[in-house]
Amino acid sequence: MKFRNFKMVDYVVYGRGCFNQLDEIIAPHRKEGKPMIFLVDHFFENAPLVNRIPLRGKDKILFADVTYEPKTTYVDSLAGQLKNEFDSVSGVIGIGGGSTMDLAKAVSLMMNNPGSSADYQGWDLVRLPGVYKVGIPTLSGTGAEVSRTTVLTGPTKKLGMNSDFTPFSQIVLDPELTANAPVNQRFYTGMDCYIHCIESLEGTYLNEFSKSYGEKALELCRKVFVKKDSWDNECDDQLMMASYAGGMSIAYSQVGVAHAVSYGLSYLLGTKHGIGNCIVMNHLEEYYPAGVKEFKYMVEKNKIDIPQGICKGLTDEQFDTMINVSLGMKPLWENALGKEWEKIMTRDKLRALYEKL
Ligand code: NAD
Ligand code: ZN
Repeated sequence: MKFRNFKMVDYVVYGRGCFNQLDEIIAPHRKEGKPMIFLVDHFFENAPLVNRIPLRGKDKILFADVTYEPKTTYVDSLAGQLKNEFDSVSGVIGIGGGSTMDLAKAVSLMMNNPGSSADYQGWDLVRLPGVYKVGIPTLSGTGAEVSRTTVLTGPTKKLGMNSDFTPFSQIVLDPELTANAPVNQRFYTGMDCYIHCIESLEGTYLNEFSKSYGEKALELCRKVFVKKDSWDNECDDQLMMASYAGGMSIAYSQVGVAHAVSYGLSYLLGTKHGIGNCIVMNHLEEYYPAGVKEFKYMVEKNKIDIPQGICKGLTDEQFDTMINVSLGMKPLWENALGKEWEKIMTRDKLRALYEKL
C-alpha cells in the first residue's frame, strides 16, 4: 500500500477582521518593481471591501467575471493580459467564492508555466511552481481554499489542474467577509461542504485522517443548518471552519456519487457546482439514505428551492454526453461504490438517475 504524501497550504490566518492584516502578511513577498495582483469577485465591484485592499506601487485590481464557472480560456486570457502588461508579478491574490479562488490559483500557475491551462488539466502535469498566491474566501463551503486543484472547464473536459504546486501559499480566513451572502447562495455553497462530508465519510477510501476532519465538518454544518433558527456571526465562523475541515477530509479521501453526477450536469448544462450537487443529492436515497434525509430536512428548514426537472426534454445524445463525463470520474465512483463500481453503476442506471433530476 502506498500512502499519499500531500502538499498543504503554507500559511493560514483565521479570525474576524484578519483581512486587515493582509498588507503586513504579503509585505515580505513583494518583489522590487513587481506588482501584487488582486483578483476580486465581480460581486465586490463598488463594495466597501475594495477600499480595504492594501494597494502599493503598481499593484492592480482585476475583477473576476464569475457569471460562468472558470474556463481554461478565461484563465489563459487573464494570465496573458498580466504577462503583456508586466514582466512578472509578485503574486496573485484571489478574493471571492470558489470560482475566484480557483481562478487565482490557475492564473498564478500560468504566470510561470508555458502553453495553455488546458494542457495541465489532469493529475500532476504542472511542472513549475506558480507565483506567490493567496486565497481569501468570501463564501464558505467549497474547500477550494485548501485543495490541490483548480476546477476548470476546458475544450474537451471539466477537470482541475491537480498538482503539488496548486495549493495556496497563504489563506486568509475572515468570516466577516461571508456575512450578507444571499441566503440561497450561502446554502448551496454550504451544502457543497455537507455533501463533501457525506461522500467522504460514506466512501471506501475513508481513513482516520479524513474521518476526523469529515466528522468535525459535518458537526459544524449541522450546527449551522440544522440547529440554528436564524443566521448570526457564529454561523459564518462555523461554516468557514466547516469548509476548511471538509476540504481537508476530501484531501485524503475523495468525493462520491453526487459530485460525479453533478459534473455531467455542469459540463452539458452549465449547472453551477453548489446547486448542481444539491439537485443530485435530492435523489440519492439509494446511496446515502441518512445524509439525503438530513439534506431534505435542511432544505425545508432553511426554506430553499431545489430546482426539479432540469433534464426534461434532453436528447439521447445529450444524456450520453453527461453519462460519459460522469463515468469518466473513476476515482469518485470507486470511492463511492468500491472497486467493482462499474458493475453497479451501469449506463442504464445512470441514465435513469439523470432522468429523475
Ligand atoms: P462562486 O465562487 O461560483 O460564486 C457564486 C456567486 O456568489 C457569484 O455570483 C459570486 O459573485 C457571488 N459571491 C461570492 N461571494 C459573495 C458574497 N460574500 N456575497 C454575495 N455574493 C457573493 O460560488 P462557490 O460555490 O463558492 O464556488 C463554486 C466554484 O468552486 C465552482 O467553480 C467549483 O468548480 C469550484 N470548486 C472548487 C473546488 C476546489 O477544490 N478547487 C472544490 C469545490 C468547488
Ligand atoms: Zn464540491
